[in-house]
Amino acid sequence: MNTLYESTRSSQIKTTASKAVLKGLAPDGGLFVMRDLDECKVDVAEITKLSYVEMAKKILGILLPDYPEEVMSKCVEDAYVSRFDTDEVTPVAYAGDSIILELFHGPTCAFKDVALQMLPRLVTASKKLNDDKSRTVILTATSGDTGKAALEGFKDVEGTSIIVFFPNDGVSVAQKAQMTTQEGNNTYVCGINGDFDDTQTGVKIIFSDNAISNKLLAENMDFSSANSINVGRLAPQVVYYFYAYKKLLEDGKINFGDKINFAVPTGNFGDILAGRYAKMLGLPINKLICASNENNVLFDFIRTGNYNRKRELAKTISPSMDILVSSNLERLLYYVSGKDNALVADLMNKLSTVGEYTIPEFMRETIDSEFWAGYADGEATMQTIREFYESTGYVSDTHTAVALNVVDQYKSATGDATPTVVLSTASPYKFSNSVYTAIFGKEEAAELEDEFAVMDALCEKTGVPVPTPLKGLKNKPVLHKTVKNKEQMADFVLETLGIN
Ligand SMILES: *Cc1c(COP(=O)(O)O)cnc(C)c1O
Repeated sequence: MNTLYESTRSSQIKTTASKAVLKGLAPDGGLFVMRDLDECKVDVAEITKLSYVEMAKKILGILLPDYPEEVMSKCVEDAYVSRFDTDEVTPVAYAGDSIILELFHGPTCAFKDVALQMLPRLVTASKKLNDDKSRTVILTATSGDTGKAALEGFKDVEGTSIIVFFPNDGVSVAQKAQMTTQEGNNTYVCGINGDFDDTQTGVKIIFSDNAISNKLLAENMDFSSANSINVGRLAPQVVYYFYAYKKLLEDGKINFGDKINFAVPTGNFGDILAGRYAKMLGLPINKLICASNENNVLFDFIRTGNYNRKRELAKTISPSMDILVSSNLERLLYYVSGKDNALVADLMNKLSTVGEYTIPEFMRETIDSEFWAGYADGEATMQTIREFYESTGYVSDTHTAVALNVVDQYKSATGDATPTVVLSTASPYKFSNSVYTAIFGKEEAAELEDEFAVMDALCEKTGVPVPTPLKGLKNKPVLHKTVKNKEQMADFVLETLGIN
């Protein structure tokens, strides 16, 4: 069996898992995939007896096979032992008839912690394995969640620096406070006078500026990104699908071998793709339910086979899913096409030149048999938050509520009674304003002074505790006060790194 990685767009571009983690993106613009992933199998009976940490060691050992066992063990322990507020890492909650896989128990209260606690350790381990002595400079533009999770992941990690840019007036009060109070000797944070697009464009310009890259090279530094297309972010997400199955077995909700469904609030398609990977590794999955907000490109694609990004991006109350080009979908196309690199390259070329593509019928049929898609707009999402709270007492965040809503649609459309696990991607306290308004109404919310007051009121009225990392936020010292115009971003990077 061949466990090398290759580009989705060319089987000529081959590399090891550890080098794929360092590079992020393949040089032809494709994504790195393990060609024979579908021949790898996990022993589900064995693995579902393990703790989260032991399970992660086994699964990541299969997905990233050139990391020696003891190196992977250390990475996994550093990432998960004592860093989440429960040893379970991703506990399962039952609310009414719903099964909820809580992915928000990490240091920043969003599901991105599961991957971003692991990625930095995979990066440093890979540099040691491949005898790469350069300093890795992580450069990230964020609309809120990713930046903070990346900062916490890379904080004080040897051989790395991390610089995060965020739109100064474009993130929530809590998100901004999370970033500007960031500790760590290698973390740098800068607000930008502009919106998220300005910020992201600024970062892309720096990445593609050869003069800047050469300056870094001369200092033995190298840029990298913490983007979700990195296989080092994808692989850790496969673990919690197995963990959910283990919990359902333990709790007597299913018998061994029973199939289950997963419903996933989806943006860049990384989280739900990890579910498809779990299935390839042998986890008994019936349907993967893809839940979108008003930006329902994936809904249209899964229903019709036509992917069309030519539309306006809607700003929603579930901002981490506001996306028009779901990058990780490319990996699904690769496997569903039967690893046809040329076909994937052609589809991606169409997406960038004409803004849309249509997949062949045989691929559409496969996707249709494995996935179901639905979407919920802001009003429906708010209604779900309120009704779910009133009927079960469970407070869900805006992203999770999109999935809860879509599961209801799925059940009434199909009559399927298979147990369905809903992935919960953020603590409701990261989006307190929307959640509070959904449950207690606009007028009540308007009386509260600021977002921190809303958090306290939400806690008082629902009894759900505010997670520790968000609780102390209001009184933490602000360590990062810099705000720049977008034209000054490159200079800020060079200054920060001490390069002239
Ligand atoms: C990033 C994010 C998502 C979307 O996950 P993808 O892997 O990009 O599909 C959903 N919910 C929250 C809270 C997120 O931060």
